Amino acid sequence: MVEASNFIEEFINEDLASGKVTKIHTRFPPEPNGYLHIGHCKAITIDFGVAKKYEGLCNLRMDDTNPAKEDTEYVDAIKEDIHWLGFDWGDRFYYGSDYFEKDYEYAVELINKGLAYVCELTPDQMDEYRGDLTHPAISPWRDRPIEENLDLFERMKNGEFPDGKYTLRAKIDLASGNFWMRDPVIYRIKHMHHHRHGNKWCIYPTYDFAHPIQDAIEGITHSLCSLEFEIHRPLYNWVVENVSVPHTPRQIEFARLNITNTVLSKRFLRSMVESGTVDGWDDPRMPTLCGLRRRGYTGASILDFCSRVGVAKANSLVDIRLMEACIRDELNESAPRRIAVLDPIKVVIDNYPADKSETFEVPNHPQHPELGTRALPFTREIYIDAEDFAEVPPPKFFRLKPDGEVRLMGAYIIKCGEIIKNEDGSIKEIHVTADLETGCGIPVDGRKIKGTIHWLSAANTIDADVMLYDNLLTLEDPSKLPEDKEYTDYLNPESVIKKSSCKLELSLVDAKPGDKFQFVRTGYFCKDTKNNNTFNRIVTLKDGYKPAK
Ligand code: ATP
Ligand code: MG
Repeated sequence: MVEASNFIEEFINEDLASGKVTKIHTRFPPEPNGYLHIGHCKAITIDFGVAKKYEGLCNLRMDDTNPAKEDTEYVDAIKEDIHWLGFDWGDRFYYGSDYFEKDYEYAVELINKGLAYVCELTPDQMDEYRGDLTHPAISPWRDRPIEENLDLFERMKNGEFPDGKYTLRAKIDLASGNFWMRDPVIYRIKHMHHHRHGNKWCIYPTYDFAHPIQDAIEGITHSLCSLEFEIHRPLYNWVVENVSVPHTPRQIEFARLNITNTVLSKRFLRSMVESGTVDGWDDPRMPTLCGLRRRGYTGASILDFCSRVGVAKANSLVDIRLMEACIRDELNESAPRRIAVLDPIKVVIDNYPADKSETFEVPNHPQHPELGTRALPFTREIYIDAEDFAEVPPPKFFRLKPDGEVRLMGAYIIKCGEIIKNEDGSIKEIHVTADLETGCGIPVDGRKIKGTIHWLSAANTIDADVMLYDNLLTLEDPSKLPEDKEYTDYLNPESVIKKSSCKLELSLVDAKPGDKFQFVRTGYFCKDTKNNNTFNRIVTLKDGYKPAK
């Protein structure tokens, strides 16, 4: 017996022990109406992960029973994203709409059994008649004779009626405490084009009717879904029990993934794309898998994140910084170190000859000497980062300041001299003198140098754009959106800051799109896959986040 690591696996173990199932079969059923986001990723790791752990199978099924807003672009993107995470469905790729014929037959079966009827209530009337906890629903067409139901349903299918004129409802229990069981609608008339079936169908099954049938036909043993479907489970079971499907799948629900400062809803994400608020589904600020990938997240770091979040039965809010910690941990190990100066200030070393140059060897990864070193040229004129200089330093500022000394990483100690300004008061250049005797060691007189800053030889850099990303939204808990507000009222004006005059070390000329680096003392960055000569900040170097104990 496989050891269960969460409640889903405990249920599965029960079903294996009782002999109810012998081989585990799950499915991931995305609706192809947008790109996958990190929330889906949780479902993917559960669906594919469980199948893998139990040496079972996991199908990929496009839940395209609702004809609205579906597109093959999304289907292809969904496949790409799942492969990127390292999962595969083999030859078990399906469309929910492939079962339309079967859905129809099972609906007819229900009518024949006296378990479904054609109803003429409008949506407004249906609302009005649904009753409450003390009053049952009212359904005037419930006792329509079977023959008449069969005839009307067939004519619905044949396109004889306009949208909304009739529905097909399951005959279950008008007094049920669960409103989903009060004779739910299972078919609607919609004269709409379907992305795979064109205009063949003008009646479409509801999700609650179609989904259990799809699962049962495919031999799914455990239909794992997020918590909002819990209340639909009695209906799921009712469908499985009352139509002659070949298998009896079991639905188990898990908590949705919610992340701080992030809205996980394709509808919202699509509106961000369509309004031009972001630069496409793969904007590096988007919580979509393609956005995270472009930002520089790896599939492994996202799987690590999902596993750290775990599988729970109760919804909770996960701090986005946990996700950042996962990629930071990975890149701390794997990313080569490079030097970049994002806000360059020129520094002139007065006592260093203008015609001289030398090189200093710097490690590609200080914790991995086996990754070797590279030579950084050193010349009289260098760049340092504006952040590393303060004309009026705050207390404990150990970087460059008037009359102060600082170590250039791996090179000389310099002492601040004259500060030359432009007409507008900005700094033009800083003149310094280097302690040329000391080289990169400890000063010969034993004086203490507290600060070390990074630098680049001014004659040996490439220019690049660097994008600094932050949360898209300032609202920490997206479930607490005030009633009179919209998410767009909480757009973070600083979700992206573009730095256009950055200086990078020469070796980055060879960086390929998607390559990831630690820019020393600055953060982790990924070469953008769309814009030339642009690096995206994946995540900062440090963060105060401590996981709850
Ligand atoms: P959205 O509102 O973003 O469209 P959805 O649930 O409608 O989400 P589907 O494409 O229908 O999106 O979802 C496919 C599967 O992914 C479903 O089984 C759903 O339960 C799961 N899922 C979607 N969002 C999350 C989430 N935030 N956490 C966990 N699972 C999720
Ligand atoms: Mg959906």
